[in-house]
Amino acid sequence: MISSTADAPLAFTLERQGLDLRFRFARLVAREWLAADYVRIRLEGEDLAGFGTPGHDDHIRMFFAQGPADTVEQMRAFPSREFTPLAWGANGDGTGWLDLEFAVHGEEGVAGPWAAGAPLGSLAGVGGPRGSLSISGAPDGWILAGDETAVPQIRRYAALIPDGAPATILVEVADAEHEMPIDAPVAVEYVHRGDAPASSALAARLDAITAAERPAGDVFGFVAAEQAIVKPARALLVDRWALAPDGIVVKGYWKRGEDGAHHHAPH
Ligand SMILES: Cc1cc2nc3c(=O)[nH]c(=O)nc-3n(C[C@H](O)[C@H](O)[C@H](O)COP(=O)(O)OP(=O)(O)OC[C@H]3O[C@@H](n4cnc5c(N)ncnc54)[C@H](O)[C@@H]3O)c2cc1C
Repeated sequence: MISSTADAPLAFTLERQGLDLRFRFARLVAREWLAADYVRIRLEGEDLAGFGTPGHDDHIRMFFAQGPADTVEQMRAFPSREFTPLAWGANGDGTGWLDLEFAVHGEEGVAGPWAAGAPLGSLAGVGGPRGSLSISGAPDGWILAGDETAVPQIRRYAALIPDGAPATILVEVADAEHEMPIDAPVAVEYVHRGDAPASSALAARLDAITAAERPAGDVFGFVAAEQAIVKPARALLVDRWALAPDGIVVKGYWKRGEDGAHHHAPH
């Protein structure tokens, strides 16, 4: 049951769908900085013609080629990380495009430095999505929260919110210089962490939300950020707002000190 109201029809359910796993080759063709340390990139290629997913929440595994690769096996030997397909389409010349956004977090890791500095024309691999989650129906209210890494997925959910629906969107960034513009039917509240650890400012903001602030009816909640966000997110959504665990999405998108790590809370 998503609703706390016994016997009422549910306003929405979350449907999961498995997809045939495809592996595609693509090239970096454009880069646009949207805020400090936050960049949108475009991939293009013949393999991306027909890229698409039927759902509202999914991710790809992106492979960062560090040399030539002619076969899928060669590409799959390169380091890979998970990202959210933001937008995609066909170019009309038989090629397709795919836009992604990256949090750039210094010199560490593979994906961040690649997004910040890989030369245009660089080769990459795109695996998936392997599965997709859809919202079937119309939630009575929305809460979307995350750090920079969750902004692409927050954009996808925000596009589903009808005008006038009760909605809260919280995005943790370092400071005002790091606030990326986000189109949404309600004002986005940016939570500044300054020099504090990732997720700590968003956790404090979630902790401050009371049971009385819960919109009425069947509310959809999405929270994703550094792994430490999982506990405070579930404390709000499940314990204080009494939302059903199978009607929310709460995820650790990365883990401090671990390369390429991601940890999913059950949802
Ligand atoms: C389902 C899903 C969807 C995701 N979608 C996106 C997306 O669309 N855009 C996006 O930017 N990220 C997204 N992520 C998060 C991304 O996969 C991780 O941040 C990934 O670890 C980045 O790889 P890297 O090579 O840059 O760093 P890694 O090599 O993985 O890590 C190197 C070091 O950097 C730290 N680190 C990793 N990420 C960050 C960060 N964001 N800020 C500060 N320190 C960090 C690690 O703890 C480690 O100490 C998603 C994750 C999941 C699970």
